[in-house]
Amino acid sequence: MRLATYAGADDGAGSHLGIVLGERIVNVEAAAKSLGLPDVHDDMLGFIRQGAQALATARTIAERLEGDASKGLPTSSVRLLAPIPRPQRNVVCVGLNYAEHVAESKSVTGNELPKFPVFFSKPPSTVIGPDDAIPWHGNVSTSIDWEVELAVIIGREGRDVAEPSAMGYVFGYTVANDVTARDLQQRHQQWYKGKGLDGFCPLGPVVVTADEIGDPHELEIRLRVNGVEKQRSNTRYLIFNIPRLIAEWSAGMTLYPGDILLTGTPSGVGVGRTPPEFLKPGDVVEAEIPAIGVLRNTVGG
Ligand code: MG
Repeated sequence: MRLATYAGADDGAGSHLGIVLGERIVNVEAAAKSLGLPDVHDDMLGFIRQGAQALATARTIAERLEGDASKGLPTSSVRLLAPIPRPQRNVVCVGLNYAEHVAESKSVTGNELPKFPVFFSKPPSTVIGPDDAIPWHGNVSTSIDWEVELAVIIGREGRDVAEPSAMGYVFGYTVANDVTARDLQQRHQQWYKGKGLDGFCPLGPVVVTADEIGDPHELEIRLRVNGVEKQRSNTRYLIFNIPRLIAEWSAGMTLYPGDILLTGTPSGVGVGRTPPEFLKPGDVVEAEIPAIGVLRNTVGG
């Protein structure tokens, strides 16, 4: 199932949770009411916290409306927002999780292949949605870079999760761009500020639920700048796979429904190029995992 957070044309600042069915989007809360199903929350975080009951209701809605051409609204008539527009906690990220990216990053991080996952985080204020502009921070950085990543959305609370049961904690997946100011990252010797500027975590366009994604370690992953491909890899090349990441992250640290984990970027980032390339106002960045969709953002001026 493909879930999205969206705003209707006449909604002002309001947002809703929808199921994407082909070219249409169906409001989950309204559809549950009209079909006489149990109530579901009208926002992604509330829906994830509701757990299996809400998912079952959404599946019933999807099945009943699949063949109804007049259901919901055309997706082209709504604005998609970040699946979780304002996460409850920092977005947790893993650096240096593809070997070729570790090699190209030595000038910034100086790191060898990690023996354990390298965790850092991005504050909730970094999150923006598909089609939002990445704010231009030319006054604080001259080397703003791209990083396409598979993002994991956690569905259940848990601590000290063992690898064999870790996939049971995954609600679904989306696409992320771990936008990074390389000069700040290098200057501060840790990554919080250089990866934490406002708007530095585009997410979207949808969340694909875990049952529908198939094997999350067999996903094509790509990024284009102004239509030119810069990154292309596959999640099979993750150094630490998703169960290992969840086990390490949750050791002594509780995970909550709606938490977001970025799993690292493959090679092809701007700082690793010869000569280095960085974003500038007006650039169009398309981060893509074909099984999920294209996350397209323009760099603001
Ligand atoms: Mg990254």
